[in-house]
Amino acid sequence: MPGYEVIGSEEFAQLQHIFDNGGVLFRHGFDDRRNDIYKVAEFEAAFARSQGVHDALAVTSGTAALRVALAALDVKPGSEVILPAFTFVATAEAVIEAGAVPVCVDIDETLNMHPPALERAITEQTSAVIAVHMLGCPARIPELLTICDEKNVPLIEDTAWGCGGNLGGRPLGTWGRMGTYSFDFAKTMTTGEGGAIVFSDQADADVARAWHDHGHQNNPKVPRWEDTRKSSGFNYRMTELQGAVGLAQLEKLSAVVEGQRESHRRIADALSDISDIRMRKEPEGAFSTCDALVFQAPNPSAAKSIRDSLIRAGGGTKILPEAVTWHFAAHWSHMPSLANRYNGNLRSSFPASEEILSRSVALPISAVGSGLPPEKIREVVMAAVSST
Ligand SMILES: *Cc1c(COP(=O)(O)O)cnc(C)c1O
Repeated sequence: MPGYEVIGSEEFAQLQHIFDNGGVLFRHGFDDRRNDIYKVAEFEAAFARSQGVHDALAVTSGTAALRVALAALDVKPGSEVILPAFTFVATAEAVIEAGAVPVCVDIDETLNMHPPALERAITEQTSAVIAVHMLGCPARIPELLTICDEKNVPLIEDTAWGCGGNLGGRPLGTWGRMGTYSFDFAKTMTTGEGGAIVFSDQADADVARAWHDHGHQNNPKVPRWEDTRKSSGFNYRMTELQGAVGLAQLEKLSAVVEGQRESHRRIADALSDISDIRMRKEPEGAFSTCDALVFQAPNPSAAKSIRDSLIRAGGGTKILPEAVTWHFAAHWSHMPSLANRYNGNLRSSFPASEEILSRSVALPISAVGSGLPPEKIREVVMAAVSST
């Protein structure tokens, strides 16, 4: 969960710095009024450094980051983009906005994309694959990349929940052709609303940077109003306000991730002797951000009973089981291009995912250890499981 738990005077000082120096809230220009302060540009450079990459582009949201990444790939209308059946609706929405058709594939016990399911789904129509590190646990990226490379399809990592995590030491988001991040208010670091993209290919970075800014190439040889362009685009520019908050939050990212991992470990330890539940599997070498703690109950009614009991005890769950309709493609009949792709049978198209998700419980994780004490969670889960 939460950058918002640690928001405070550092973020405020960054904002104050803008207002003490002319109050320019736009990332470009107004050079005579801003005392050389460019918060978004500074945030992009700091974020790229933190992820060990050459370039990062800040945008208005994680959804926008996905949309811009698809624009950089020049994904063609009518082509197919593959994503996991378990993700937030935003991943599919970005594909639809790009005019492409979302194709969802089953997850496995990691709750992330199942590599054999990806392999089966790739066709001549496939223009990109988006893997998601759901709730901060790394997807099986090396296996997914091998499949994508073999079929010559680019892989985007939706790292909305994985910012600050890694796999075998390599940051999540930096494995694929591009990685996208969300800084909305529920994510590991937050700018209120916001997002970023990192690139492994400089040509993608250049196209994305122009496309997110109406096609502006920010040619240093001419003033902005005479700027050069190669294509049209859209406006997904981050404001200086978000950039400023991002600079302060980025300083806190590793402490937030460590705090989440510690809270996760304490709850997992407390639950470890309940033999009827199974912890979510993690791939080898995973350093998860531990945004939530996920386990599988013996059956769907036990999962619901655990949730109800946790709420009665003053706690609760996160996404699973209660918000599954926002996160599981079987429920997205409101997306016609997706539903048509599955002949209107979305509800029964992902039986393997359904089997896992219907029994899954996700506990919210605090970076500062707030919420129900681990012993209390253990007591509640134990009682709920043994009564169903
Ligand atoms: C939050 C989220 C997004 C969208 O990010 P916003 O900044 O809220 O637009 C995309 N994908 C996943 C998996 C998310 O959890």
